[in-house]
Amino acid sequence: MKIPLCRVLTLSFIVSNLWNSGWAGEPDYTLTRVSDNIQIIYGPFDLPDNKNRGFRNNVVIVSTSEGVVILDPGGSAYAGERVARTVKEHSKLPVVAVFNSHAHGDHWLGNEGIKRHYPKAVIYGHPVMKTRVQGPDGDFWLDTINRLTGDTANGKHVVAPDKTVNDGDEIKIGDTTFRIYHTGAAHTDSDIMIEVTGENALFTGDVVRNGLLGIMEEDASFKGNIAAIDFIVSKNFQYYIPGHGRVGGVAMPQTYRVYLAILRSKVGELYADGMADFEMKADVVNAVSAYDKWVGFDLRIGPHISRAYLEIEAEEFD
Ligand SMILES: [Zn+2]
Repeated sequence: MKIPLCRVLTLSFIVSNLWNSGWAGEPDYTLTRVSDNIQIIYGPFDLPDNKNRGFRNNVVIVSTSEGVVILDPGGSAYAGERVARTVKEHSKLPVVAVFNSHAHGDHWLGNEGIKRHYPKAVIYGHPVMKTRVQGPDGDFWLDTINRLTGDTANGKHVVAPDKTVNDGDEIKIGDTTFRIYHTGAAHTDSDIMIEVTGENALFTGDVVRNGLLGIMEEDASFKGNIAAIDFIVSKNFQYYIPGHGRVGGVAMPQTYRVYLAILRSKVGELYADGMADFEMKADVVNAVSAYDKWVGFDLRIGPHISRAYLEIEAEEFD
């Protein structure tokens, strides 16, 4: 049977529209304006699954005179491709650079999707982040997100940063300068925070979170994370853009700082009383109860207590 050409064209039109607009049930990739030259795609708070296809972080899109710069391109190759297509819909200029805030996969696996559309885009990250991603951590994240999303993340290989940046570096792209801050171990041992000069805005990665608690692993430092927030608060930016959750003014990072500080000091107090980490959970949960509606609280509070406990214990032997 012959199918009329108009039918074929109609079908391909529908398929391509479905592809361009994503599919039902997938997260919203709508742009929200932060400042004159910064827009954000807010990531959903859900853990990676076959609906979000690994997308769960904030993707920041900066317009410069030379092209588009993306801060954290999404948590999967698929998410990176969706971000690239969103950029194409809104900008005639290409993506020329990407910054990765740290080595957790939800912040850099999108590199692969960006490179599929913009192979010349230059990707930047902290030197330790690059080493981690090129080592076992990179394959771990790629495999984990593919597995959790039922292979809908569409990741084929690890795409690490092309170039490294560290504290104090300034990268000029077109008319815009990106200033890098790294204050030591905080959320991880290789976080970078990125100031977009001229916009009075700082992208913090997961050094600051708003409404969602996440992992703090053996490379994290509660003490260092608190100090990092004190430092960025002292700069008094107009816009603080967290790795997850809504953009805010200076009160927003301070709210997360209070969580970290109460947790750490309560764990320290109970440690001094001779309690083991598992014995102190109820008391610590009570001390940080103002945060118990944050997404991920029940999942993360136990590991956060253990992490802070180990950190305090290690300081005893310094
Ligand atoms: Zn993280």
